[in-house]
Amino acid sequence: MFGKFLLYEMSWVEAKKYFARNDIAILPVGSTEQHGPANPLGTDHLVAKVIAEEAAKRTKVLCLPTVPFGVSSHHRQYWGTIFVSPRVFKAYIKDVCLALYYYGVRKVVVVNGHGGNLAALSEVARELRERGLFLSIFQWWTASAKLLPNIFTSEERLHASAEETSVNLALFPQLVATSKTVNEESRKHPTRAEGVTLPLDTADFTSYGVWGKSTTASTNKGKKVLKTVIEELVRHVEALKKARATDLKSKSLV
Ligand SMILES: [Zn+2]
Repeated sequence: MFGKFLLYEMSWVEAKKYFARNDIAILPVGSTEQHGPANPLGTDHLVAKVIAEEAAKRTKVLCLPTVPFGVSSHHRQYWGTIFVSPRVFKAYIKDVCLALYYYGVRKVVVVNGHGGNLAALSEVARELRERGLFLSIFQWWTASAKLLPNIFTSEERLHASAEETSVNLALFPQLVATSKTVNEESRKHPTRAEGVTLPLDTADFTSYGVWGKSTTASTNKGKKVLKTVIEELVRHVEALKKARATDLKSKSLV
């Protein structure tokens, strides 16, 4: 191809050439939500965008513009969190994917930057598989926990804690107010019990919106995480690129 892999930089003529030869695309999605006093509200979509676009460049797979809003009403008590309902999010993502389907795409790698989107994305993936469109969902922190188990403790891997702050430091140091990083002990809710799921918000557990420890963030750890997760995503995109769309369809009745 011609060295352009970002849909928003292409003309329709260039897009036509890509879609004529390829049946795969990458879709970054994130959220605009509080990440404690030190990190930008855009963390989840900014990080997803960087990871997705870098993987696109390395694999020569088309990358879409990033969806910046997600399912994050559980952060709404912290100012500036822009939340949409799972129903609206699902419908929007589904339509974006069906537009790709119209141009011949049969495989989409969703690079998800926000854990709260996962349930809705998984439902979309199941529904679209029935239509012949195969979605995979990549989450960088899930990959990092498996591939770099010793780089952070579990309390440094939570929302807006050291791992996320480190990745921000590596990518957008100018957006991180390092002096405002905090360590928060999350409060126990009185109704909490094993085996019970509760409809609670981040504000029920924390004062600043940080789960766990963020003062231990470092640029170097962030760089290491990024390098590792981008390589893993590239491996996945290459594998999906090679897979035949017909082999990814749901099996028929046995
Ligand atoms: Zn986040």
